[in-house]
Amino acid sequence: MIDTHFHIGVIPHEWQHILGLCELDTVIVPSDQMIPDYSTLDMVKDHYDRILTEKTENAHDFGIFNVFLAITFPMWGLPLTSLDKGIELMGQYIGKPRVVGVGEAGMDTVTVEHEEVVFKAMVAFAKEHNVPIIVHTPPPRHSPYLGREKSDYDKRKVMEQIIKILVNSGIDPKKVILDHMNKETLEMAWGYGSWLGLSCCLDKLSGPEIVSFYREYGPDRFIVNSEWGFSGGGNRSVPKVVVDLKAASAPLEDIQKMVFYNAKNLFNLPI
Ligand SMILES: [Zn+2]
Ligand SMILES: [Zn+2]
Repeated sequence: MIDTHFHIGVIPHEWQHILGLCELDTVIVPSDQMIPDYSTLDMVKDHYDRILTEKTENAHDFGIFNVFLAITFPMWGLPLTSLDKGIELMGQYIGKPRVVGVGEAGMDTVTVEHEEVVFKAMVAFAKEHNVPIIVHTPPPRHSPYLGREKSDYDKRKVMEQIIKILVNSGIDPKKVILDHMNKETLEMAWGYGSWLGLSCCLDKLSGPEIVSFYREYGPDRFIVNSEWGFSGGGNRSVPKVVVDLKAASAPLEDIQKMVFYNAKNLFNLPI
């Protein structure tokens, strides 16, 4: 199994070990995009370096043998005056071994210009370097932005804007994962032609919801992942989805697409 959205820094070692024992041996770690205490580019660089070194080494001890990194300029925490330098930094990392794409990058609102400026820059970077991009879309269930107007957080509106930006950029939809889908946004996103990320965790999807999407749309464009992975008893999200799919009598070949081959092909992983 591959988990394409694995925030390794917040996933305890015990959970990583359970995942390794479940033969989830490959993960893609998206750089964090909204750590409020990011205040300098040195901290972003440190974040990339830790994932590529100590986090990778720890995970290996637990049976997660392949750790890949996607890089981003955080949507939150750094001012736009750092954006050019941040993109320069990303340019130094994108050719490195195990750096397989851009992300996560996306938007939660259509009312905060900062988000859109950063997102457009990340899409342009991915296109220029011809690498995949993991696109964050508003979480299916609850908003972390307490205090904002509900209209600021309209998932359909935000998804429409994200797709518009992607289409206008000219990036190949086959290089894009629109992540954290739910029923509402999935219907809209399907027509764009990208890969669709199904994130199984507390504020996103359950295994049975993922089974129902599979039944409706088939396995060819879905990529299952965990995001933070808090789903009740901890991060066993991708293996749990496999069990749910098996229980629903999905053929093995279909399951393998959703938890392995689609991601392997998109990111061209050397595994
Ligand atoms: Zn996200
Ligand atoms: Zn995430």
